[in-house]
Amino acid sequence: MTAAATRRPGTPAGRPGRFETLRLDGVSRSFGGHEALADLDLTIRRGEFIALLGPSGCGKSTALNCLAGLLPLTRGSIWQDEARLDVLPPERRGFGMVFQNYALFPHLSVRRNIAFGLQMRKVPRAELRRRVDEALRLVHLQEQAGKLPGQLSGGQQQRVAIARAVVLEPSLVLMDEPLSNLDAKLRLEMRTEIRRLHQSLGLTTVYVTHDQEEALSLADRLVVLRAGRVQQIGPPEQLHAEPANWHVADFMGYRNLLPLTAGPRRGAGIVVEIEGHELVGTPVGDPAPGSAVMAAVRPEDLIIGPGLPATVEVVEYQGREVAVEARTAGGIALSLLSADRPAVGDRIAVTVEPRRLLVFPS
Ligand code: ADP
Ligand code: MG
Repeated sequence: MTAAATRRPGTPAGRPGRFETLRLDGVSRSFGGHEALADLDLTIRRGEFIALLGPSGCGKSTALNCLAGLLPLTRGSIWQDEARLDVLPPERRGFGMVFQNYALFPHLSVRRNIAFGLQMRKVPRAELRRRVDEALRLVHLQEQAGKLPGQLSGGQQQRVAIARAVVLEPSLVLMDEPLSNLDAKLRLEMRTEIRRLHQSLGLTTVYVTHDQEEALSLADRLVVLRAGRVQQIGPPEQLHAEPANWHVADFMGYRNLLPLTAGPRRGAGIVVEIEGHELVGTPVGDPAPGSAVMAAVRPEDLIIGPGLPATVEVVEYQGREVAVEARTAGGIALSLLSADRPAVGDRIAVTVEPRRLLVFPS
């Protein structure tokens, strides 16, 4: 391993603001009267990969820009260990940023784009050269070092942007939807690349995305935002299996969200009635009998078997399985996966294991 790859946070060549924890305390930001981000509490540990996940407009970029110092807070504070950070300008926070649109200098070569930040910091020539070479190697762009950004593909440009951020050995790397301009295959490759760099360089990363698959595959912990407010914070497995409310469930792939009325409890379960058929689910957050609930189930957990009747409307080949869209007599759309291939127009019945049907207050 080379020197740069083994360098640890805080060892030579200045990682400004190395920290153990970075704490966001009630971070809020309004635009006019509109609260784009409200009361974000989050403690980031050094070495963590955090994903901020939520639909467009939920406040992800606002949160990232508050952290970066590009947006002043309306309320709250940010702490790097015991030092207050939100009062510092962006350049004194020592963070690296990677944006969706790459934001490269078009008239500078790849090498000079990557070297730019080091030059600004007056890093000595020999060290600068060594670090830029190392960064080029890390993102597999040695061959492209002399080219201009306009001569590169989208994926290569995004690699330059990533190299430019990590070459400064920032104490925190902030990424705002860095892969959303890339095609599907490249997105998968770069995803792996980003995780690899995070691990091999011992980075701490905050990554913004609206793509739950990307967030689940990359992050140690996810922060799910909706309308500026945190819905849930936790590791991928936890959010996947135990979403705190139906909004998080929706985001975690529970594509069937059925607005129903809560029935009585049955043991640890709860009865819900749907078009005269009873299903038993698992209550989340104590929905009262007779109250409006949202019953959530993933397509892969909805099984063809004795239960709720429905008619097949769409059958879509997906390799090992087929995706089936069906509709109940009452007009409720259902998405499921099936190993067998039903025909359009077939009458089927579907059921679900009680633990796979989550029943939330709505
Ligand atoms: P996301 O990144 O999750 O898509 P943003 O953080 O960009 O969402 O925006 C959150 C909300 O704040 C949106 O309603 C957006 O319109 C609003 N907003 C963001 N930036 C500004 C701004 N500079 N001026 C006014 N409103 C803004
Ligand atoms: Mg955004």
